[in-house]
Amino acid sequence: MERSLVLIKPDAMERGLAGVIIGRLQGEGLKLVALKMLHMDRALAERHYAIHKDKPFYKDLVDYIISTPIVAAVFEGRGVVERIRELMGATDPTRAAAGTIRKDFGLDVQRNSTHASDSPENAEKEISLFFKENEVFD
Ligand code: UDP
Ligand code: MG
Repeated sequence: MERSLVLIKPDAMERGLAGVIIGRLQGEGLKLVALKMLHMDRALAERHYAIHKDKPFYKDLVDYIISTPIVAAVFEGRGVVERIRELMGATDPTRAAAGTIRKDFGLDVQRNSTHASDSPENAEKEISLFFKENEVFD
């Protein structure tokens, strides 16, 4: 079954929004199958964002994502990757559609409150960085 990794990023953690955001996804009928709070270290952040390592924003992004503990979650269901991307909205909150999570909570293009996997293949790779298989309850 298709799965997606969701991270509640530091800007949202600092404003106490982890439960609100996870609750929104559950309220859309999405099935939560794994959940944990952790403080990512630099090595994990660099692996998670390896695809962006040549981008100008990479170092700041890694510094940001390790700046506070975060919440990591896995949702499961048919089409869940695309559905969560829709619910989160565009990367830049100022460009995100009305009613999306990033529109409602994001602060700027870096501090956009959430991460969500962009393909089922990447989701599996990302999930394996954060969860052991026996921590996912599908
Ligand atoms: N990001 C940034 N500056 C940019 C583009 C992206 O700081 O110009 C950050 C932002 O936090 C984003 C993350 O890098 O969520 C990963 O970028 P990606 O293009 O994968 O966006 P996403 O898949 O999160 O929408
Ligand atoms: Mg991405």
